Amino acid sequence: MSENRPLGVTILAILMAIGGILGIIGAIQILTNPWIRIAAALRAVNIGLIYFSLLLSIVALPIAYGFWTGLTWSWYAGLAVSGLSAITNLLQLPGGILGLIIDAVVIYYLLQPNVKEWFKVMGGPTLPEISLQAKPSTSEPSSTPPPGMKFCVTCRRAIPSSNVYCPYCGAKQP
Ligand SMILES: [Zn+2]
Repeated sequence: MSENRPLGVTILAILMAIGGILGIIGAIQILTNPWIRIAAALRAVNIGLIYFSLLLSIVALPIAYGFWTGLTWSWYAGLAVSGLSAITNLLQLPGGILGLIIDAVVIYYLLQPNVKEWFKVMGGPTLPEISLQAKPSTSEPSSTPPPGMKFCVTCRRAIPSSNVYCPYCGAKQP
């Protein structure tokens, strides 16, 4: 079953599964506590934040499964969640420094070639495609002008045959 899954991916999948389950249990315990309504009314507790952490814990379970089985979408989901977490930690910086370091390590790790291979993520940036697109668009002057056109004697751009002067460089045509 574990056909060369990178060790870090295995560890992350297990941590996410455990964290997700503990997070769900913890959030439900808080939300079903009879004192929570009073605490929320007194603004001693931010109920929205608890629901948000419950949501993150639920989302962590399918991502953990995706990491375990090498599903491509879970790689993107893992990157997105780590990115969001990094932003959140950045906003509460003195306290969030440890979380920020962990997020950075996870993001760096997910970008490693052998990890991307496990998730069947296609190669790096699309630089080759860009250079391929740029090649034909560079209008190199061809040997024969289009019908009804001629090449300027000075700048070699295609201009109407009837033009005496080049509209681009102003050179007089023979
Ligand atoms: Zn010209």
